Amino acid sequence: MGFLEKLKERLHKTRAGFTSRLGDLIQRFPQLDEEFFEELESLLIAADVGVETSLLLVETVRRRVKEEHLREPAAVREILRQEVRAILETDQVPLRMDANPTVIMVVGVNGTGKTSTVGKLAWRLRREGKRVLLAAADTFRAAADEQLALWAEKAKVDVVRHQQGGDPAAVAFDAVTAARNRGLDAVLVDTAGRLHTKGNLMAELVKVGRVVGKALPGAPHEILLVVDATTGQNALVQARAFHQALGLTGLVLTKLDGTAKGGIVIAIKKTLNLPVKLVGVGEGLEDLHDFDPGAFVEALFAQP
Ligand code: GDP
Repeated sequence: MGFLEKLKERLHKTRAGFTSRLGDLIQRFPQLDEEFFEELESLLIAADVGVETSLLLVETVRRRVKEEHLREPAAVREILRQEVRAILETDQVPLRMDANPTVIMVVGVNGTGKTSTVGKLAWRLRREGKRVLLAAADTFRAAADEQLALWAEKAKVDVVRHQQGGDPAAVAFDAVTAARNRGLDAVLVDTAGRLHTKGNLMAELVKVGRVVGKALPGAPHEILLVVDATTGQNALVQARAFHQALGLTGLVLTKLDGTAKGGIVIAIKKTLNLPVKLVGVGEGLEDLHDFDPGAFVEALFAQP
């Protein structure tokens, strides 16, 4: 199955809630009247595109319908597709892999899919011929590093671990230093994720970042926030808080396969202008992909 096919299949819940309802709306309305636009707005909000972004999108559709003298509701689908794509393509930057080693810090609330993301990314990089080291910098959660070790085993990469309760920054420092000494290509730092509302977690993550910078000037090269798409608008709240504290370089959106709320990608992008760099569409090693705005929009708007 090609990537686009797989994405289409995995996004079926979002598509069912969005594209099918859009198709329905288009069929029900013979013309583009006020009521049509109101329903379009509710439809976007229901797909978790976010109130602000939904309003903006509907405004744009209205303006273009007028300017382009469109009468057919069916034209709206194409306009939406173009506008969503434009939002997602703005300032889209791929994952950096240009430093030696490239240090990628992965942060996020527990349960969002941080550790799985680190594991899947390690697997992917290794398959691309890169030499990867993991850092188990979540030293708080019991068994967190064991879980990471399991992923390391699956992905066939090494992992640097300290004792539970140790200093997470020290783990990251050791991993980056070891990777430098061994001439490796990438270090993936898995971090703790107790609730983002606790100030001390942010302080700790800032420290990890700073210490990593001492081990290798310029690092971390990426600070990726993992957010769970099934939590909808909560993901946006988390993204805002982490970005404020850490200056994120991008997002990983997980569990897109299990949600009807895939529209959150659009809300996050439009509101925070942070690139979505990777998406998780399942629990397997192969289920992490580069975020491709074109393919995403294709999959989202695909008609059954
Ligand atoms: P962490 O606490 O943030 O490190 O989260 P984990 O990596 O342990 O993941 C939490 C749960 O989410 C696990 O059961 C994962 O298998 C699951 N998970 C992670 N990513 C995805 C995804 O893209 N799709 C699905 N369906 N499940 C995922």
